Formats: sequence, C-alpha cells, structure tokens
Amino acid sequence: MNSILSQLNQILEQKYILIEEEDKAPYLTDWRKRYTGKALAVVLPRTTQEVAKIVQLCAANQIALVPQGGNTGFCGGATPDDSGEQIVLNLKRMNTIREIDVANQTITLEAGCILQTVQEKAAEQDFLFPLSLGAEGSCMIGGNLATNAGGTNVLRYGNTRDLCLGLEVVTAKGEIWNGLKGLRKDNTGYDLRDLFIGSEGTLGIITAAVMKLYPLPISQWTTLVATDSIASTIALLNLFQKRATSLLTGFEMMTQESLALNEKHFPRMANPLKGNPPYTVLIELSDHESEAHVRQLLETILEEAFGAGLMTDAVIANNLAQAKTFWHMREHITLAQAEEGANLKHDITIPLSALESFIQETDALIKAQYPGIRIINFGHLGDGNLHYNIAPPLDADHQAFNAAHEKPIYELIYSQVERCHGSISAEHGVGQLKLEGLRAHKGPVAHDIMKALKTALDPQNILNPHKVVSI
Ligand SMILES: Cc1cc2nc3c(=O)[nH]c(=O)nc-3n(C[C@H](O)[C@H](O)[C@H](O)COP(=O)(O)OP(=O)(O)OC[C@H]3O[C@@H](n4cnc5c(N)ncnc54)[C@H](O)[C@@H]3O)c2cc1C
Repeated sequence: MNSILSQLNQILEQKYILIEEEDKAPYLTDWRKRYTGKALAVVLPRTTQEVAKIVQLCAANQIALVPQGGNTGFCGGATPDDSGEQIVLNLKRMNTIREIDVANQTITLEAGCILQTVQEKAAEQDFLFPLSLGAEGSCMIGGNLATNAGGTNVLRYGNTRDLCLGLEVVTAKGEIWNGLKGLRKDNTGYDLRDLFIGSEGTLGIITAAVMKLYPLPISQWTTLVATDSIASTIALLNLFQKRATSLLTGFEMMTQESLALNEKHFPRMANPLKGNPPYTVLIELSDHESEAHVRQLLETILEEAFGAGLMTDAVIANNLAQAKTFWHMREHITLAQAEEGANLKHDITIPLSALESFIQETDALIKAQYPGIRIINFGHLGDGNLHYNIAPPLDADHQAFNAAHEKPIYELIYSQVERCHGSISAEHGVGQLKLEGLRAHKGPVAHDIMKALKTALDPQNILNPHKVVSI
C-alpha cells in the first residue's frame, strides 16, 4: 500500500493526497450520516489528465475508486466501504467554467463546479441554468450528472440528463473519452453520454460537461394554494398545465404533517395559509413577456380553480423575498426531518393517474401495521415524484425502530410502487441504499442488461463497486 501512495505522489502533490484520519474524515460519511466508510486515501486531482493517471494506477493495482462530488447524495453512493482499501476521488478542485457559448446557449464546465455557482455565472450572462435543488450550495455538477438529479424545475426543463449535451469521462481503463460536443442532434450510434449519466460513478468518472442554458424569465410569480385532497391537487395541476402550459415551472406538494414538522423545528417557516390545510401546493409561473401578463394569468387560473372547487385558499407572494420564503418552506422539510432524527426516506415516482390510490392504500397499510408511525409525504408532484418518508412513532427510539422495521417497510412500499407501475428511485439514485431494492424490482432482464454493461465497461470492478449493481 505504501508503494501505491508513493506512486500517487508522482501524480499529485502530497497535500492533495489525504491519508491522516482527521483529514479523510469529512469525506467518509454521507450527508444523512447513515454510512461511514474507511479509505486508503482521499485524492483531490485538479485536471482530467490527473484523474486518468490515478485510474490507470488503480487499474494496474486492482484498487477500487469511489468518485465523489459535494457528498450530498442520499443513497451512500459516494461513501467507501469499510475495508480501508478503497480510494475516494473527490472532484472539488476541478471547478473551472471552461466556456459560455452565447450563440449556442451552452456552458462547458468541470465536474467540481458547485451548482449554485453555475446558476450565478449563467445569470451574469443573462441565462438561466434551470437545475435547482435544496443542496445547490454544495452539490456539484459531476454529482448531479452522476445521479441524474431532478429538483424543482423538472416539470419545465427536465432532469439533469435533459440539460446535458456532452460529457468528458475517464473510463475504468484510465482513458479519456472526449464527448464535449454542444450538439442538440447526434445520432451516431449508441448514446454514450446517456450511459454515464445516472450511473453513479460505476461506469466512468465524469470530469467535464456541456450543459444547456435558457433565457432568463422576465418575471416569476409564486403562490401557495390550499387543497383538501390529492385528487383535487392533481386536477389543479392539470388545470395549470392546460392554461399556463410551458409557463408552469414549479408544482410542489406538501402535506399537513410535513409542514407541522417544519414549524416544529423552524418556527419561522410556518405555513402562511390559514387553517392548516391537508395539502399545501407551491405553484410557480415563469414568463418571458411581462410581469402584468403572468400576474393576470395566475389570477385567472386561480379564479377558475376556486370556481371548480379545486382549492380552498391561496396566498400570492407579493415580492421576490416572499417567493423565496415559500420556496425555503418547501426546502426546509428535508432539513426538519434531519433535525427530527433518523427516518426512512423514499423517493418514488408513480403515474399521476395512480397516485391517489397509491397514497390511500399505502397509508392505510402502514398505519395498520405500525400504529403511531408518521408519514411525511411531500414532493415534486408535477413529476409524480413523492418523498414518501416514514418517521418512527414519537415515543419510539428512532434507531431501534428503524433497525427492526426498515426492511419490511421498504418492501411494503416498493411492492406498492411496483403494483402501480412506478419507480423506487425517482431522482436520488440507488447507491448502496437501494442495491437490493433495485435487484428485486427492476425486473430480471433489465437487471441483467445493467450487469452486462458494468462488466463490459469496468471488468475489474474498480469503479464504485457494490453500488447500483453488483457483479
Ligand atoms: C437538502 C438536500 C436536498 C436535496 N434535494 C434533491 C432534489 O430535489 N433532487 C435530487 O435529485 N436530489 C436532491 N438531493 C440529493 C443530492 O443533492 C443530489 O443527488 C446531488 O445530485 C448529488 O450531488 P453531489 O455532488 O453531492 O454528489 P455526491 O453525493 O458526491 O455523489 C453522488 C453519486 O455520484 C457519484 N459521483 C459524484 N461525482 C461524480 C463524478 N464526477 N463522476 C462520476 N460519479 C460521480 C458518486 O460516486 C455517488 O455515487 C438533495 C440533497 C440534500 C442534502
């Protein structure tokens, strides 16, 4: 092992090879503090060539590498195992924006760029980079691509996959694939870019990307709307889709229980809607015409929704600051859950037509089997994406409850998801958390194809082994 460390030292300066326990520690535990691993070293390369040389060295010595960005993932994908033999390769020093191409409306950037920085750099040139999620102050574009992150703008702009035009990737052999083309059309055979996006570091290390930019909207209006059932919430969504079409950029659902948890831990995040409604929906419209145009449109749709009995109350944000408060309220649910203690996270998608029956049946099954259990359900409803999270009963020891009941609860929810033709991972990915779930619910043919791809691209199994799929 000493010889590996000294060979690494021929690629990177010593200060970028972390071997002391206290230096490595911040990179060895995941955001939820669910997994802690050990590592031979944490390496911090600055260039694609350095990444390639590190992979070549590891391939020659059969040492596994765990790629890591901002370490905000929810599935333990960026955490090494506990052998102490893996190397964590963190990309945070690769944070250069290589080019903003105004005519092509693209940005070429390195994997370690922090998402919020990318949004800000794009805005400086009057562009919108639409990917937006609660971790944007720390997650990195490489991690977003590797997990195919979703977030709050998927309804209008799609997932990270839809925003990406080209990639630069270091393969498991340590070769550099330069696919940094900013093309919106390219039908030259298999789509290699789409193979690496969402592969969670198991097929290659993403070092740079070409991403799409969009015109900045002139005006955005945000409103909170109270509804009394999932059925009316979906009908409200359909009404907005029909009337506002592509101007609808956000449609987030929060249940009474999730907002009560918010208020408990962050009293400033109290719901401004009176009467504690069963469902609170955050709706955002973005317009490229004028402020008056979008405000008028929003009011007209809300009036129609009232008339049709789809909603009971609404508060329109008066200014940008209030709109931000509404969004913070939504984003703080994840943080409130972390404050409350260990919980069982689920990140599922269900076709909207099956959502109501999924929620009714699954709520009933879980509550019957685990009296006192709390269901903290919220999510990107416009995408059919629920964070259907389970918190132990108030008087239970959280760790003990989860240890005893985690498996059957996961299985119950996953079976319900399968019954409704949904997905057990809408946006957070698989990592190590859902390895078994994916094997059981992806379907045997799809799972075999995934194993074949992994074997073909990484025959030595050195890139993030035992994450997503085991070979
Ligand atoms: C408060 C909060 C809110 C969140 N909200 C959302 C949300 O709305 N939508 C959503 O989708 N996610 C959300 N997440 C989850 C997380 O932020 C995303 O998954 C994000 O994309 C991870 O980026 P990262 O840089 O932190 O990646 P990491 O956590 O470092 O890594 C994630 C995975 O990608 C791999 N990886 C990282 N970088 C590379 C690379 N350069 N090449 C190859 N593989 C790589 C890792 O090995 C790992 O498997 C949230 C997280 C938090 C903490």
